[in-house]
Amino acid sequence: MGYKAMIGLEMHCEASLTNSKVFSSARNSYSVTPNENIRPYDMGFPGVLPVVNKEAVKMALKTSMVLNCKQPEYMYFERKNYYYPDMPKNFQITQETKPIPVGIYGYVDYECNGEERRVRVNNIHLEEDAASSDHLYDTTVIDYNRAGNPLLELVTEPDFRSGEEAESFLDHMRCVYQYLGVSECDTKKGHIRCDVNVSIIDESLDPEDPSNWGTKVEVKNVNSFGGVRECIKYEIKRQTRAKEEGTYDTEVVQETRRWDEETGTTISMRSKVDAVDYKYFVEPNIPKYKLTKEWLDEIRASIPELAYDRKKRYMNDYELSEYDSNILVKEKKISDFFEETVKLGADPKEACNWVNGMILSYLNYNMITIDEIFMTPEMLRDLIKLIDDKTISSKQAKDVFAKVLEDKKEPMKVVKDEGMMQITDEGSIEGIVDEVLAENPKAIETYDPENPKALDFFIGQVMKKTRGKANPGMAYKMMKEKLDNLKK
Ligand code: ADP
Ligand code: MG
Repeated sequence: MGYKAMIGLEMHCEASLTNSKVFSSARNSYSVTPNENIRPYDMGFPGVLPVVNKEAVKMALKTSMVLNCKQPEYMYFERKNYYYPDMPKNFQITQETKPIPVGIYGYVDYECNGEERRVRVNNIHLEEDAASSDHLYDTTVIDYNRAGNPLLELVTEPDFRSGEEAESFLDHMRCVYQYLGVSECDTKKGHIRCDVNVSIIDESLDPEDPSNWGTKVEVKNVNSFGGVRECIKYEIKRQTRAKEEGTYDTEVVQETRRWDEETGTTISMRSKVDAVDYKYFVEPNIPKYKLTKEWLDEIRASIPELAYDRKKRYMNDYELSEYDSNILVKEKKISDFFEETVKLGADPKEACNWVNGMILSYLNYNMITIDEIFMTPEMLRDLIKLIDDKTISSKQAKDVFAKVLEDKKEPMKVVKDEGMMQITDEGSIEGIVDEVLAENPKAIETYDPENPKALDFFIGQVMKKTRGKANPGMAYKMMKEKLDNLKK
């Protein structure tokens, strides 16, 4: 008998692009220096009061609109009470699904292996992040920089059936957050963390009927997309094996596990039976406030073109392939770089080839981002122009590209300094062609006009004399004419 998996994600995304934290005026910025961005509120000092960051609420609402969620009439927050060193106030301000989060009951269409999929969204809510703890050899140190950063938690229904679907959804959401200007979604900075819920049911049973559901296992805090995919695969295998071996009831229990990247397994942390009661209540220091229709309309109108629409536009307007368009839109900053280059006058197809080819390989090889590369859209436009007006050949352009980045010089300057200008003036080329003919009487004797390869030697000589700078097309045409005439 076969089984199918039911997978639901709780995706946490740090809204890294607000100026300040969600309830305090401390800076929201990633820092490698611990405890740099903190204000009394983040440390839970007596008497501190939260002030809601309007920008963060706006981002949350904007996201909920893209997720096709319903927005609430009133906005309010709740206290989730617990003690832990990463939360010095002894409570976290969050939104439970009751009363009402920023958005509820929506859906997302995304693509997995070229096929369209839909996942239902239970809700998305806004809360404050906790500090981060580092467990060293015999001590634990805490960095409060992250404490109080705006965090968006998106809870899906258990609609994913495989690790690949969950991963594709995360890729899709990463784009959404980047394009909306909510988050950089840098997994290296811990901007995205997921709790992964997995269960299996009999293949023949209806997953819509809760009475058919199997035991749900939650894997906490998986912080890479590959990790999400692999921990799902592992859990499906573990749970299926238990069914087949008849040990399902004892081995698969409602519990929280963690993903161990090194061994590629999940490990039990705690059972759900002793679940904590957080004693939620409405946060008394933040008055409930009405979301006006005008404000919601204004937010909706500010939603920019998202990755999917950009991709369609590249395919329709620029006639780029789906493959190339997908690569271009995957990272918003890459796509912006491409757009800027085109806006400055470069041909879209050529710009796309450079960005997806040389630029992306340079970034990957050097492990840097597009912000860190010396090349700008202006420089790329100039480089393409140098090829178009035949100042340099496309082969030379690759050398110019490398030189620009190596010497940190603009393309025009590289071409000038290196004397790379192609020779395109007829008189000069004719002079060189004549020289080559005068120096090689023997080769002229054996020249056979019917043999297409017979010209190679002569062109080689022209290139040698000009250090590769003669325009190959012009040199070829002129040489052939002269040789064929001599042979008449
Ligand atoms: P909990 O109260 O344990 O946190 P929720 O009902 O809030 O559970 O759901 C948390 C996540 O678990 C959601 O993403 C939801 O889709 C997912 N989930 C719920 N039931 C199942 C199930 N039977 N199998 C897999 N995932 C599930
Ligand atoms: Mg949960």
